[in-house]
Amino acid sequence: MGSFKIGRIFGVDVGVHWSWIFIFAIVTWSFATGVLQSFYPQWTSGERWAGGAAIALVFFLSILLHELSHSVVSNRRGLPVRSITLFVFGGVSNLEREPDTPGLEFWIAIVGPLTSLALGLVFTVGWLAIRPVSDGIAGISANLALINGSLALFNMLPGFPLDGGRVFRSIVWHRNHDRLRATHTASTLGQWIAYGIMGIGVVYTFYGGIFSGVWFLLIGFFLRNASVASYEQLLIESTLSHISVRDMMRTDLHPVGPETSLEELVHERFLRSEARAFAVVAAGDIAGLVTLSDVRKVPRDEWPTTSVYRAMTPASRLHTVTPDENLAKVLQLMAQHDVNQLPVVRGHELLGLVTRGDILRYVHVRQDLGVKAADALVHPGGQRDGQTSTTPSEPSERPLLR
Ligand SMILES: [Zn+2]
Repeated sequence: MGSFKIGRIFGVDVGVHWSWIFIFAIVTWSFATGVLQSFYPQWTSGERWAGGAAIALVFFLSILLHELSHSVVSNRRGLPVRSITLFVFGGVSNLEREPDTPGLEFWIAIVGPLTSLALGLVFTVGWLAIRPVSDGIAGISANLALINGSLALFNMLPGFPLDGGRVFRSIVWHRNHDRLRATHTASTLGQWIAYGIMGIGVVYTFYGGIFSGVWFLLIGFFLRNASVASYEQLLIESTLSHISVRDMMRTDLHPVGPETSLEELVHERFLRSEARAFAVVAAGDIAGLVTLSDVRKVPRDEWPTTSVYRAMTPASRLHTVTPDENLAKVLQLMAQHDVNQLPVVRGHELLGLVTRGDILRYVHVRQDLGVKAADALVHPGGQRDGQTSTTPSEPSERPLLR
């Protein structure tokens, strides 16, 4: 959303979010009017801006390498990364699911800061090697070394979901064998670190550096929200992973016949109930599923003459679940296939329908009742590997701050 794809590296789609353009502009500007101005006063302003943009490009590649290092380790260890998106606060890797062992999480997380550190060292060597030849290029290299070094340091702060926070969580998780509690600890620490960063922002703002101040404040806010959201998400998913489809599915299906017209379907069914999808059943077997979006694809004036059979998604193309599947897995499937309901089947027999709306209502009621971590912890052995977003209503991929 709001980002454009720039290419594919090691099988990973690389995208740039529009907000990244700010960073590009700021880096270009600070080099053009700072380092380049002092080292190359003889340059025209056009040359300085072009130089600044070139350095910003190298900076961009540094961040990209950091993200790619996460992806390469993750892919190698059997946890596919679909895409990387660079945005104003750095990069986000969209892992297909969360790492399921602390060891895996540790390595995927730590390789990023290590890559930035290595880049910092490369630019430091560059600075030392080039210094006798060209003060200017050496100065640029020194700045890039500093930037990469700071990136490594910042990302190693032990606040979840920063890399360092993930490393921290993996260590706690390794020790207590409880991912949810480890996440709670890491997320709490993440929030304190976020408040610390905001505090620095306030101090900067009052003592002159309004730009840096606002910047720190924004990063702090972002980090705090990300910490809270990632824990809540995990909590929801671990709760849902203990509930099976059987307990949540609708069984009052009132299926429609394949020959029903869309006109009749809309007036007799959709307008008279809150259902957004109906199973199409022929001779006792499920023939398909017809949803509001299927109907919407057919022009209004063709409704009387179009049969449900022609508009529905046929059973062969439907994703289905069994009654024993857990709800965390179901939400993940819905996100993956971008659908709001899944038919529950055993063999060819249609047993019910499980909808995103019902699952979300359940989650919200639980939240309203104040059902917290302790309750979710009552049931041990919960595996979680769902998709994550701030709430499960967004069918987006798992955003991990990297
Ligand atoms: Zn990272």
